[in-house]
Amino acid sequence: MQISRRHFTRSALLATASSTLLATDLLSQTQSLVHTVQNGDTLGHIALKYGVSISALRKANNIPGDLIRTGQRLKIPGSNEETSSPTANTATATISSVHTVVRGDTLGSIALSHGISIGELKRANNLSSDIIRIGQNLNIPISRNSSEDLLNRVRAETARIRVRADNWKRIVVHHSAIKYGNATVYDRAHRKRGMQNGLAYHFVIGNGIDSGDGEIEVGPRWKKQLLGGHVKNYGINLTAIGICLVGNFQVTHPTKRQLNAFIQLMDWLRGEVAPEAKQFAGHRDLKGEQTICPGKNFPLAAMHARYDEKNLNIVGNL
Ligand SMILES: [Zn+2]
Repeated sequence: MQISRRHFTRSALLATASSTLLATDLLSQTQSLVHTVQNGDTLGHIALKYGVSISALRKANNIPGDLIRTGQRLKIPGSNEETSSPTANTATATISSVHTVVRGDTLGSIALSHGISIGELKRANNLSSDIIRIGQNLNIPISRNSSEDLLNRVRAETARIRVRADNWKRIVVHHSAIKYGNATVYDRAHRKRGMQNGLAYHFVIGNGIDSGDGEIEVGPRWKKQLLGGHVKNYGINLTAIGICLVGNFQVTHPTKRQLNAFIQLMDWLRGEVAPEAKQFAGHRDLKGEQTICPGKNFPLAAMHARYDEKNLNIVGNL
């Protein structure tokens, strides 16, 4: 069965919103995954998205070079056992984009539970009346409420571990330099690159494509309180918490919710969890890293204004 990327994402969201039944259903659907090439896709993007190598992708589709065309269907090699993990990951997400109506739901109760207005909900679903039916899937528009708490999941996952609070001296922000991906996808890619601890960052903030917009995913290195792998300098990796926002901010801008999530995460880390992480840097601020990360459109100056401690020159100190 052939499934487009769009279909896959929507199914994943559906699984988030409702039962394991749907998740199981999705699992059987994703056996032998097919990616329909979208405008702007490259073999590299697609390989990264599915955690496969470019050469495996070429081989599975008999592509001699790098040329692919929009609308082309590509077989994703070895996706049978692997593709279910992003779903498992989003199953605990606090941000869902589709709500499946259950008995007792009203537009009012659904709007309230997602922090949006009834009007927004109706507009997002082209509803002319207040009538909804059980089993109906409603799109949940992104909440504009900036006071929304995006840390529920991070708090819950951190409550289970003992944070090495004295170890963390700095926080470094990155962009992923690609519009696709989530913690699971990057974890797989980093392991393939030989990083045995997987995902190089401690946290990944989604952009609404492969994880929720503003969804903060907690990486294995945070759960195990391991050093990061997100900068070249080993000494900095030892003591720096890495936060990655999904997106290529040389080209696009971080979403409002991504920035909101970033600020909430920073405030929480600094204020409660890792108060010694007093230094803040964009990846490119660090000496010797030779990168444009986190991209020209990430508001790094504004974040420095917010997070730099007085008398602390981050570049000079590193
Ligand atoms: Zn970076």
